[in-house]
Amino acid sequence: MPSFAASFSGNSNFYMVLTQIILKPGKEQSLKRFHPWVFSGAIKGMKGTAQEGDMVQVVDSQGNYLGTGHYANGSIAVRIFTFKPFDGSADFWKEKLQAAFKLRERLGLVHNEHTTIYRLVHAEGDGLPGLIIDIYGTVAVIQAHSTGMFALRETLADALVQIYRGKLTAVYDKSNEKINKGSNTPSTNQYLYGEGGEKVCLEYGSKYNIDWIEGQKTGFFIDQRENRRLLGEFSVGKKVLNTFCYTGGFSISALKHGALLAHSLDSSQKALELAEENAVLNGFDSTRHATIKADAVEYLKNLQEDYDVIVLDPPAFAKHLSARHKAVHGYIRINEAAIKQIKPGGIIFTFSCSQVVDKKLFHDSVMAASIQAGRKVRILHQLHQPADHPVSIYHPEGEYLKGLVLEVE
Ligand code: SAH
Repeated sequence: MPSFAASFSGNSNFYMVLTQIILKPGKEQSLKRFHPWVFSGAIKGMKGTAQEGDMVQVVDSQGNYLGTGHYANGSIAVRIFTFKPFDGSADFWKEKLQAAFKLRERLGLVHNEHTTIYRLVHAEGDGLPGLIIDIYGTVAVIQAHSTGMFALRETLADALVQIYRGKLTAVYDKSNEKINKGSNTPSTNQYLYGEGGEKVCLEYGSKYNIDWIEGQKTGFFIDQRENRRLLGEFSVGKKVLNTFCYTGGFSISALKHGALLAHSLDSSQKALELAEENAVLNGFDSTRHATIKADAVEYLKNLQEDYDVIVLDPPAFAKHLSARHKAVHGYIRINEAAIKQIKPGGIIFTFSCSQVVDKKLFHDSVMAASIQAGRKVRILHQLHQPADHPVSIYHPEGEYLKGLVLEVE
């Protein structure tokens, strides 16, 4: 690979002059394998200055160019968005989004009559660390997780409008909770293009009223689409308990496939209202759908109904490595309660979306729960996030959603 200085002097019109982050000897190895993070401990020094969110160039200890990314004041100091020379043009971002769009097209998610909800950009999985873009019908919702990506929101919105060729009615920026964490500054969330759009969107033909303004994340947990569908297949003629239900997706899928009844449980009243609204929207009345406001673990410990199928989809118990131990205990607790209580032959769909709890640790936690419950348990399926949430093979940290379908004897 040519050094930055050589390529810069050879073609000065096409390269931005950026602060250079110089790595310690040997610390270039992971970048050469396309892992997009530079940890602060790997940095020897810098040529110039860098503020939170600035674009910077990363070079090895010899000055050879490695990549360009966004600088941040955390332990991940740079998130690389290109390993090629970077010209800083709006076209660069448009091409990145276009590539993400093309993948979703190949996956059959664009212009799909039955599913109008999908993830267009999944951060590192699409070579765009710090950026999430979700599509709800004709509305794109941008959620930047880094100051650098936040600064690009207008450029990204323009590119989206061009890529969708007039099919988008709005682009909404929902970055505030990620960018202004804990600060008292007024919310920056706003429409960057257009305003509003049809809120009722589809997932495999089921209708969901999406609230991208007030809802959690960008409005919907898109990552469970294929798992909700699989649950449907296990639910024919069954009684289903959907704990941590949020907008009720697992319940709707179960009912759609012919469940006898589905109970949606959440500790949040707002979530239960959304679940109920979606049940009604799909034509399921109180004879088949009910909501339960409760703490999931407490409810599971004293289960009244003899459910055939239980869904456990808690929020991320561990957001950081330091919370991992506590998180594992949380997973053991809820899984033990469900395994103990479910009727013989019952099915449990159990999930973890904590990135720091990997597949093996989650698996081990569910094994510990099974041992403590003292019942025979078999794994029928091992679940994960869907293809519109791709994982770069060089960035295994991008794989965050894990699930198991258990059969309890
Ligand atoms: N399964 C959902 C997503 C779950 S999000 C889907 O498919 O869309 C996690 C949900 O857990 C949130 O709605 C939150 O309100 C709820 N929650 C958090 N702690 C809880 C607890 N202790 N008991 C019950 N629900 C809880």
